[in-house]
Order: sequence, then C-alpha cells, then structure tokens
Amino acid sequence: MEKKLITIAIDGFSSSGKSTMAKVLAKNIGYAYIDTGAMYRAVTLYCIDNGLIDSDNVNTAQLEKKINDIAISFSVDPETGASVTMLNGKNVEKEIRDMRVSGKVSVVAAIPFVRRALVKQQQQMGDSKGIVMDGRDIGTVVFPNAEMKVYVDASPETRAQRRFDELKAKGDASITYEEVLENVKYRDHLDQTREESPLRKAEDAIVLDNSHMTPDEQNKWLLDLYNSIINRL
Ligand code: C5P
Repeated sequence: MEKKLITIAIDGFSSSGKSTMAKVLAKNIGYAYIDTGAMYRAVTLYCIDNGLIDSDNVNTAQLEKKINDIAISFSVDPETGASVTMLNGKNVEKEIRDMRVSGKVSVVAAIPFVRRALVKQQQQMGDSKGIVMDGRDIGTVVFPNAEMKVYVDASPETRAQRRFDELKAKGDASITYEEVLENVKYRDHLDQTREESPLRKAEDAIVLDNSHMTPDEQNKWLLDLYNSIINRL
C-alpha cells in the first residue's frame, strides 16, 4: 500500500538542532526539506547588500517596494550534494550563516509584509505535502493543519555552545562563546516577543527537549514519531 504523504512542521529556538534533524528525517523518508530560517536570512542579506538596513533600522518603505523582486530558492550544490540557498540566482549559503546576518535577521523577520510574502511562498512549496519544514511559525501559521508538529527546546547555553562549535568548525575564529550566547538570547527575545507570529508552541505540537540527546537519539525519536503518526492514518 502506498504511504500517505503528510506535512511535518518543526519549530523551535535558534540553534536547537532542528534543521539538522529535519534534514535527516526528510532524507530518510524521501520528503522535501525547507529551511525557512534561510529564507529570512536571505532577505536580511539582501537588505544589507542594498543598503536597506542601518544599525537596527530597516528602510521598510524601500524594502516593501523590492520584496517581490527578491527571489529565494533552494538548489543542490553539485560538489557536495547539499541543499544551498539561492538569492536572485546566486548561491548565498555561506553568507547567510555569518554573524553579520544573524545579528539583524530577527529585526527583518519581525516586519509583517516580509512575513506575509515568505509565508505565502512556504505554503506554495508545501501544497502537495510530502514536506518537512522548519522554522518558528510553521505549526502555528504556515501549516496549522500539519499532521506532525514538533517543538524543539534546549537551554540557551546548550544552543550557544552548538552554534559556537559550528562557527569554529567553519573557521570563524573571530567570535567568542559569550558573543554567540548573547546573539542567541537576543534572537530568542525578539522571536518570542514580536507582534507578528511570535515563536510559540502550537497547542498540538509535541515537545522535544534535546539538551541531553545525541544526534542519533534525536533522529530516532523523530523517525519513530513519524512512523507512529503514519501508521495511525
Ligand atoms: O532558523 P534560523 O536560526 O536560521 O532563523 C533565523 C531567524 O529567522 C530567526 O532568529 C527568526 O528571527 C527568523 N525566523 C522566523 N520565522 C521562521 C524562521 C526563522 O521568524 N519561520
């Protein structure tokens, strides 16, 4: 019997490890994976590159005029086989992960017309199901009817340590653990307190606190949950 396709929403704080496990799950079950954080990061990079952001002030009037010209897509890097984020035809995967973008993205992500534009694209990407999408508002706003919703939680210190290790592994030696922790806490605060679609657990989401779990344990937990949901359908 052919397996039914479902929509899988994975929400949670920054650097909670949700993207890594969402990617592994998507690969295991043959679903598409969409990193919505990368989309907000790409819009932020566009603002930085086009002089639309100055300290924490965004030129919203200009950005609103340009928002429909910002084309974000995902493609596969022919060398590594990994999914990469494209902004107006250019591979920006590396640039969108640096601290320049991380420091501004929550401000850009709080702008209502930016969210409306990206949510619309995300809903179109997932309209035939068979998708794993991760972000902050996937289970609450983008796909409130998703059959599987997970809310990933871990302490700010655990998440900052993971992010710090990732940046170090990529050769970014300019940043300290304290700076990363400060950025994580700052983004948590903005993401939870913004008026438009704040980060919150959907009522029907299942919580995963992965502070003390290995990547393998998380992947198994997620796959078991998927199997239990699919077997009930
Ligand atoms: O997931 P990641 O940490 O890369 O997301 C970057 C930022 O984008 C978050 O801190 C948040 O401000 C924003 N975001 C959002 N809604 C989403 C995904 C990300 O507001 N669905």
